[in-house]
Amino acid sequence: MTGSRRSAWGAAGVVLLLLALGALGVAGTMAHRWRAHKRPAAGARGAKKAHFARIDSHTHVSPDGVERALQIMETWGIDGMVNLSGMSPGPPHHGLETQLAAARASGGRIAVFANAGFMKALRMANLGVRADYGNVMAEELALSKQLGAIGLKIPKGLGLGYPTPDGKGVLAVDDPGLDPLFEKAGELGMPVAIHTGDPKAFWLPVDTKNERWDELQAHPEWSFRDQPVPSWEELFASFERRVARHPKTTFIGVHFGNDPEDPDRVAQMLDKYPNLYIDTAARVPEIGRRDAAQMRLFYEKYQDRILFGTDLGVGADQDSMMYGSNGANPPTLEDEARYFTSTWRYFETRDKQFESPTPIQGRWKIDGVGLPEAILRKIYFENAARILKWRPPPGPVMAPHPAADAVPTGSVPLPNRPGGK
Ligand SMILES: [Zn+2]
Repeated sequence: MTGSRRSAWGAAGVVLLLLALGALGVAGTMAHRWRAHKRPAAGARGAKKAHFARIDSHTHVSPDGVERALQIMETWGIDGMVNLSGMSPGPPHHGLETQLAAARASGGRIAVFANAGFMKALRMANLGVRADYGNVMAEELALSKQLGAIGLKIPKGLGLGYPTPDGKGVLAVDDPGLDPLFEKAGELGMPVAIHTGDPKAFWLPVDTKNERWDELQAHPEWSFRDQPVPSWEELFASFERRVARHPKTTFIGVHFGNDPEDPDRVAQMLDKYPNLYIDTAARVPEIGRRDAAQMRLFYEKYQDRILFGTDLGVGADQDSMMYGSNGANPPTLEDEARYFTSTWRYFETRDKQFESPTPIQGRWKIDGVGLPEAILRKIYFENAARILKWRPPPGPVMAPHPAADAVPTGSVPLPNRPGGK
């Protein structure tokens, strides 16, 4: 952490840019390729028949991606999505206002988490305008709630990229200056979805022995090896201190509690901190390689603390999609089909050694946990609805196409829909 003020801010900018691109898919190549091969009807996609209402509690939908998000919900039997890329309110960009307006166009299918304006608040502290950046962000969060955001998302930039106000280091996840922000989230009843760290392999040498070799080949910039960032263990310890410090704030540790490689440690965290929940976003490949019987015990014990999520990134066209993780090439509709069918298969069947939703995350097969219906209902829908205090409307996601007006009501086939349960 010896870089100059300028370089620390510069480095943070690079990390944040990468995070933004990762979250929203790589923009720029808007080829409208998906229109060439039409999205097949839901029933033809080989999806397991959905018996369940589902909330995807972890997505990143860009403002122009709402229509596509609705198509995906319709196709794969998802009733609502939580967009964690809400951005922050106010000038100059009014990002949250834009995302909330886009979500409203979804007819109540998309709820939005705000992001905190870290860079703006830290820059103000840096310039001596207001040193109390935590209060600045807490005030902003109150405004975000007034505007319609239902939670706060903390990206991995906290701990890995946002600079300290003096620009000399990286702001710690448990930095005391941020306490007012996390306290305010609790006061406002806004859950905090927090991403700390990344797969442990991203800290290891990037060579053929690295189990994330394929992914790191496609995205060399995702490696933290030899980067001026804290160790994985330091990050996790600061995440734990943050959760411990705010018992009245509800935390959702994304990506399986930020430690999918070690479910035992996640279990210890859940035992210790009743204010902690986890989501499953983009980590089915990781948890799917654990012993399925052991994992089933985990789901049974923590059935009220786990939220289904995908980490889906949705833009206007196919090239801007992100299904948990992407390879070097833009993902295809076949990737989408594998992503959802393997995910349902993991939760709903006890099949052995099938392809994971995102094979690029590692060259292994996964085993399904085949959860009982009562637990599936909680993980897919009820837990999210309860802690987010949000329910997407029941019934079909998309209104029938105007051309369907001629078709008698009730005969429009919706084979993959849970029937509004
Ligand atoms: Zn995410």
